[in-house]
Amino acid sequence: MKSIVDSGRAKDTLVFVNHERTTSEKPVCCWDVPQKREAKFVAREVSTSCRMCRRQFGTIHSREHHEEQDHHFTASKKAQMSTGFSPGNILEYRTPQELQAFVQEKLRPISGPVSIACAVEIEAIISVIKEYFPLPVASLIKGDSYIKGTDTQVWSDVDIVLFSEAFENLEDCKKKLPEVIDDLGKRLKKSSWANRIAMKKRTQFSLRFNFKCYKNLHSHSFDIMPCYEMLGPAPSTGLKWSFYHNLYLCHDTDKIQLYTMSLLPYQVEFIKECTVQVKALIRLVKYWFRTSFAMPMEQNRFRRLPSSYAVELITVYIWQLAGKPIFFSLVQGMRAILKLLVRYSEICIIWYKHYSPHCTTFKKVLKKQTRPFVLDPTNPTFNVCENSNAWDEVAHVARRSLLKPLFNGVPAKEPWLFTNSW
Ligand SMILES: [Zn+2]
Ligand SMILES: [Zn+2]
Ligand SMILES: [Zn+2]
Repeated sequence: MKSIVDSGRAKDTLVFVNHERTTSEKPVCCWDVPQKREAKFVAREVSTSCRMCRRQFGTIHSREHHEEQDHHFTASKKAQMSTGFSPGNILEYRTPQELQAFVQEKLRPISGPVSIACAVEIEAIISVIKEYFPLPVASLIKGDSYIKGTDTQVWSDVDIVLFSEAFENLEDCKKKLPEVIDDLGKRLKKSSWANRIAMKKRTQFSLRFNFKCYKNLHSHSFDIMPCYEMLGPAPSTGLKWSFYHNLYLCHDTDKIQLYTMSLLPYQVEFIKECTVQVKALIRLVKYWFRTSFAMPMEQNRFRRLPSSYAVELITVYIWQLAGKPIFFSLVQGMRAILKLLVRYSEICIIWYKHYSPHCTTFKKVLKKQTRPFVLDPTNPTFNVCENSNAWDEVAHVARRSLLKPLFNGVPAKEPWLFTNSW
């Protein structure tokens, strides 16, 4: 399938996002395959690109106007093309106990002796990667769902960033990356671990493979990304703010991608710090995304649902609004999230953890904000909602979901009473 690209800029920024579609004929839901970092952290232009033809617009409003005028993408058509509840959906449950039991049985991470064996295996393959990496490794950081504790038996991703001092700067890193990645891939294929590694098509910045774990019972999706380190383990406020400033001024998508790798440890830390029940809620919301939306069709093949990172952040925010309860009802938590998604055009979420209201870069970004606005707690230049052009569809499916037996007629209870005004 040929991808439709109508400007040079769009080509630069969107070509990775559509990668799965250009290499396979079958439509793939973005929630069915592990998302690439490009789609999660860089693809800012998606919110203003058309779901049908991928044309770029200056604003979300003009994009929506075009969709209606030129593609007759009306409210009823939108509703029809967005909703796709899977049979036996959790939304049909009638009691909170049924939902809790489902989450405990089906959406839990690997547990028991297998989880210990799994951790050992993952550490082993990471040492192998480090050993076969063609450059000296200064530090190695791990991320994504397995590390954050938001994975399930079926969905488990591991991101590995390898910082090397062999790169002189970001430019040099960008230039050398393809060779370094290919080299690592070849070495791994020749190693004694080769039969446990199923290589996938590599991206410009990463080596990707499925690792067959303990007794071949399950596998993990690995993303290996070599990079030039810009922040270090304990950067000063001054260093961080100048990093943000440079990132803000940078318009080279490849470099932005490399910049954000230095933020990975902080992104992981943010989610990892949450309680077990919040992680269960995150898994549940991700599951809802996978089982409630219609697959994109040929006509709306450029539709992009929100990224998993955006979903994680929104979940954490809702839990914080409720006063960070240690134990809580998943039905109440999920209901609060769906109610917030319905009001997506009012969402404005900011955490002053890595930057403050006085940070110049932050102030500039805030002035240009679009809604929904969820600022990456580790990166004030990035509204994580901008990599989706389907928030209206998310709101529609959320509204429909709230009418299902699981939520229908369920009143807000303590500490979720704030949702009464929503
Ligand atoms: Zn999708
Ligand atoms: Zn269009
Ligand atoms: Zn494993």
